Amino acid sequence: MDILRALERGAQDAARQFMAVPGGLSFTYRRTLDRAGQYAGALTALGLVRGDRLACQGSKSAEFICLYLGCLRAGIVFLPLNPAYTTSETAYFLSNSEAAVHLCDPGNVAAMTGIAEGTRTMSMEDMAHRADIAEPDFSDVESVGSDLAAVLYTSGTTGRSKGVMLSRENLGSNAETLADAWRFTESDVLLHALPVFHTHGLFVATNTVIMAGASMIFLPAFHPDAVFAALPQTTVMMGVPTFYARMLNDPRLDMEVVAHMRLFVSGSAPLSAITHREWSSATGHAILERYGMTETNMNTSNPYVGERRAGTVGMALPGIDVRVCDPATGANLAKGAVGSIEVRGPNVFDGYWRAPEKTASEFRSTGFFITGDIGAYDADGYLRIVGRSKDLVISGGLNVYPVEVEDVLDDLEGVAASAIIGVPHPDFGEAVVAIVVPRPGADLTEDRLKGQMRERLATFKLPKRIILADDLPRNAMGKVQKNVLREKWKSLFTASS
Ligand code: AMP
Repeated sequence: MDILRALERGAQDAARQFMAVPGGLSFTYRRTLDRAGQYAGALTALGLVRGDRLACQGSKSAEFICLYLGCLRAGIVFLPLNPAYTTSETAYFLSNSEAAVHLCDPGNVAAMTGIAEGTRTMSMEDMAHRADIAEPDFSDVESVGSDLAAVLYTSGTTGRSKGVMLSRENLGSNAETLADAWRFTESDVLLHALPVFHTHGLFVATNTVIMAGASMIFLPAFHPDAVFAALPQTTVMMGVPTFYARMLNDPRLDMEVVAHMRLFVSGSAPLSAITHREWSSATGHAILERYGMTETNMNTSNPYVGERRAGTVGMALPGIDVRVCDPATGANLAKGAVGSIEVRGPNVFDGYWRAPEKTASEFRSTGFFITGDIGAYDADGYLRIVGRSKDLVISGGLNVYPVEVEDVLDDLEGVAASAIIGVPHPDFGEAVVAIVVPRPGADLTEDRLKGQMRERLATFKLPKRIILADDLPRNAMGKVQKNVLREKWKSLFTASS
């Protein structure tokens, strides 16, 4: 079902709540649909037509969501951008997408104006004022499922990031699948503390709520005080692993504060088995981990009913093919074997914006999209991700899967977090290097850690160096930026030789 049809269905009940901002406004489905209509009218009055791109770089707000839905009503392609991008980064996205209009926070309008030829820059507030005077009963532009709904730029850790083209069907089908798989109903209230410029907060969270006719408490950001204040009014939380790790360190987390919650979902980065275990013992809830990406929406999920296995991302969602195959030949691999994770289904994107060759190189002729993730199915059919193919370390000709070594490190006493990278090495080609963040007060040394790891891993997997650090570089979703670490430590073995 199309997201807009689900929104209209919700609006038939005039009183049904959709989103509430604590200390701010609350929106019923009816009000959201009308506000989206006003935005659709205001954008159309600005001259935007079906297929034009609207880049939106505003802070997280309820209006941001209404604007997204307004674009769906007007057939305009929604293009959210991280407000943290600099002017030169933003200029690339605007020029590459040929955005007709770029909305940003008022303080940035002066700096952003004129950075991309043909793009008009305005503040979110200016746009909201234009919407205020537009009619809410906009007559929706006709659409079909294959129409482009959104372009999201990937975080792009190598080379320039690419625009992922998502159709209305990609979004609608995945929201239906998730609402069903995670048993969403009208009485659910989602705790929404994720950013909305990313697929997790914009689509997984928001679209699933709309599809179920449920509601959400919409927090501007993840602040523990606000999160703990909202918890007692919600039934489901979706988060990135860092949310759960931070909440575990908070004395307010106990069985009572989560007593009425029915589900905690994690994704966008690997949830460590330790966090999974600690969360279960602190709250009595097994976190449900799922796996997806901007290009494919959600692909796999641990079961709602049945074992939610730590360190795995569960099984393929209904209607979606998820296979593990030999990257060279494309032949399916047996359970237990590590290979390329590839996905096919109505959730998979249409291609990269204006990059047909790049698109072609990442799809097989059978329609499978090559995710770039590597993993294996276990004997019971749970998928385990062992890393991105470009993060694989090949040391002395042998493959080392970062997650396997990180799991061993994370299990050692005094280790708060770890990252394994490959660094150029004169003898081995690449050497395994660990960056380790100690827990507060822990007295870790490189030699002692190496000694403890030796009992659990084959020699070729052992880090040649372990570097202790205060922190790991992470992106907005809490994912470790291994490219930054590789750059930083690239001369570790070659500088002196
Ligand atoms: P993004 O497009 O920013 O959502 O990033 C997608 C990538 O995040 C995937 O290709 C995976 O590498 C990673 N990812 C997402 N969910 C998980 C998960 N549950 N466990 C491990 N990696 C994940």
